[in-house]
Amino acid sequence: MIVLRAAEMGMCFGVRDALALLDRVSEPSEVTIHGELVHNPLVLRQLARRGFRSEPEVGRALPDTPAVLVTAHGVSDRERARIAAAGKRLIDTTCPLVRKAHDAARELAAEGRRLVVLGKPGHVEVEGLVGDHPGAVVVESAADVRGFGASRLGVMCQTTLPEQRAADLLARVVAANPAADVRFVDTICAPTKARQRALAELLDRVELLVVVGGRNSNNTRKLAATAAARGVPAMHVEGADDLDFEVLRGHAVVGLTAGTSTLPATVDAVEAAIRAFAAAEKVS
Ligand code: SF4
Repeated sequence: MIVLRAAEMGMCFGVRDALALLDRVSEPSEVTIHGELVHNPLVLRQLARRGFRSEPEVGRALPDTPAVLVTAHGVSDRERARIAAAGKRLIDTTCPLVRKAHDAARELAAEGRRLVVLGKPGHVEVEGLVGDHPGAVVVESAADVRGFGASRLGVMCQTTLPEQRAADLLARVVAANPAADVRFVDTICAPTKARQRALAELLDRVELLVVVGGRNSNNTRKLAATAAARGVPAMHVEGADDLDFEVLRGHAVVGLTAGTSTLPATVDAVEAAIRAFAAAEKVS
């Protein structure tokens, strides 16, 4: 059995830098993580052990800790102002590429365009993007596309949207709003694009894909769904203990990829376990 890694995979620099900043926080018990930092139970357990509190729902009552940490997914300016007005110290780990998406939203709104965000309603990043723009709409699927009743539309994306889905939804928005002047800003981040392209290349070469990441991680589940849509069976594992060796047995080429919140050490452990199984299979 050969194991092939995707050329690009796993933790993006935005999440990695946010976690590095958390490492430097000296009084974790004074900090509440506001929003979803990562969908990775291992990382969340480690943070909880250090004393960090988590408040996954942005927009609810503010936590009572003196400091509030904004995650890599960012928040709206309105939410940032609410935190500051409550006298909280704000630790901001917003990814620079999410900031760029906020800049794009501001620019489109300043041009008098109704904002259309292609992405998942309720996702913390999307909530942040639309939070400062009353009238903004979120389009997740073809069912959400309609005439938006504006002469000017500004379309942009959640940073982790698959490129093909963005192109499809944009075409539908344009078709459903024939009289509107539509400007599109591609705000899908470079790491997401690189990972999606690397996955497409990998799927051409493997019989089975092992995807490493949290069970609740949207991004990880999407990787498995992409494989399934291409006719490649996928095994979604949180770590090496979840590997089903009976499913791996007999495959000549197995691919390996991971979601953006997966720790490199977890990917390495999964790869080592597959390779050990492959070596044992060869001997027997
Ligand atoms: S997925 Fe992209 S935008 Fe989001 S944190 Fe990672 S690098 Fe930043």
